[in-house]
Amino acid sequence: SQSSAYVGRVAPTPTGYMHLGHACTFLEAQRRARLVKGRLLLRIEDLDQSRCKPEFVSALEEDLAWAGLEWELPVVKQSERISYFQEILLRLKADGFVFPCSCSRKDVAEAIRAPHESGGELIYPGTCREKELAFASAEDLFTINWRFRVPDGKRIQFKDGRLGDQSFLAGEDFGDFLVWRKDGFPSYELAVVADDVAQGVTEIVRGEDLLLSTARQLLLYEALGAKVPAFFHCPLILDTDGKRLAKRAGSKGLRELRTSGVTPADLISLGRSSLAG
Ligand code: GLU
Repeated sequence: SQSSAYVGRVAPTPTGYMHLGHACTFLEAQRRARLVKGRLLLRIEDLDQSRCKPEFVSALEEDLAWAGLEWELPVVKQSERISYFQEILLRLKADGFVFPCSCSRKDVAEAIRAPHESGGELIYPGTCREKELAFASAEDLFTINWRFRVPDGKRIQFKDGRLGDQSFLAGEDFGDFLVWRKDGFPSYELAVVADDVAQGVTEIVRGEDLLLSTARQLLLYEALGAKVPAFFHCPLILDTDGKRLAKRAGSKGLRELRTSGVTPADLISLGRSSLAG
């Protein structure tokens, strides 16, 4: 069969076992790739060293395969790509898109009390935007927090493959977001964009809970001069008590479902009957 230029990916974070929500999103990613005879990559987003465990990686691959997912090799692990992420940070720094931030979480929370608060999203108050921080050595760059300088008031728009036109306001819907953490690792936003660009991903299929992240990421694509992929945000799946599925899989954990006799063929209809909203 002829293959198209479509490149899709699934990008799980191995901090726990997969639940029905993940499975449905990943199966949708596969369905969309197959529709156009495209490729589907698997990327393990294992940057959070304190929470990602090797046993969850093997469990993930096993559960994905059980669910009927087929992906191309090799599997990319983000934990092995730190020097690439460092390069991306340096590029953003050289082009003036990011600034080093010495605020603690507490500083930020306190500074925010006053005017900036929007729908639960904390807006960084800009404390370090104009500060000059001195670095003793090049390595020092990677042991401090860096934030993206968000263009306040800029409208960020994109057309989602499922939800249609989306519009966000930089500086109001979200503020200067972290791109690098002082623990030496990139933030989710930086790593995911850097890798989606490097892997030539043409469509990103992810959960609807990441819509606002997608808006932030569009600023990173622009800053990096990278081609913007298409986006398709999947509906969220609720737990049996109507709450959003947490990382702790509980009743909607893939392994629990499997033990209770659910087959891979049941997953999509099971997901449909547990949709949020
Ligand atoms: N690792 C992220 C997650 O599991 C990836 C989401 C994405 O960018 O598609 O939430």
